[in-house]
Amino acid sequence: MNFYILTLFPEMVENGLNTSITGRAIANGHISVKAINIRDFSGNKHGKVDDYPYGGGAGMVMQAAPIYDAYQHILASTDKKPRVVYLTPQGKVFNQDMAKDFATEEDLVLLCGHYEGIDERVLELIVTDYVSIGDYVLTGGELPAMVMVDAISRMVPGVLSNEDSAATESFSDNLLEYPQYTRPDEFMGMKVPEVLLSGHHANIEKWRKEQSHARTLERRPDLLKKNKD
Ligand code: SAM
Repeated sequence: MNFYILTLFPEMVENGLNTSITGRAIANGHISVKAINIRDFSGNKHGKVDDYPYGGGAGMVMQAAPIYDAYQHILASTDKKPRVVYLTPQGKVFNQDMAKDFATEEDLVLLCGHYEGIDERVLELIVTDYVSIGDYVLTGGELPAMVMVDAISRMVPGVLSNEDSAATESFSDNLLEYPQYTRPDEFMGMKVPEVLLSGHHANIEKWRKEQSHARTLERRPDLLKKNKD
């Protein structure tokens, strides 16, 4: 899967995603991440890509033309028109189902805003999905884009060494994952639950299911309600 990130800060997304599991996925060719600097399409020698908002008000607004031209540059290397996500606090709040859905795309464009946002006209022309990572306002769309790339990549076959771990972890079946333990079997007087040391697979599975339900009920009862709807 190919991610194209339209940004004013390419080094931020490149550095962030070139590490750990996403870094390995890039190195293995399971995903590619191309950060495109919107400033390269400014059309002026100062690299200026923002201006004052019409109607007045605080801050600056990113101009339409550089973003449109950067998008055209991406289209030259994709077979068909890719989905274009604008990261914005005004979007649909990102979740695991959305990550799974985006993971079926071959190419995905992520558009990062800055300052007060982006001229509405280019959004109308190119954006297919408006996505927020939560009900708070960040300074830019780079961290949200990285969040999306991370969550989506985990759904791309081959990215996780053990494919099972994506299938059983939190949010599959609208449940949170059961508690995890590793060595030693006693830490500060706290013991690992006996059943996990028993080697009895059916009992372990039963215990994990019960823990998953209890934990979800305690921490995220809204997820259990989704299962009933
Ligand atoms: N003035 C805008 C508004 O009120 O909707 C907020 C602009 S914000 C300061 C700058 C950029 O950060 C946005 O264009 C967007 O790309 C990104 N951003 C901020 N919060 C975000 C969030 N919760 N989810 C996704 N992107 C966000």
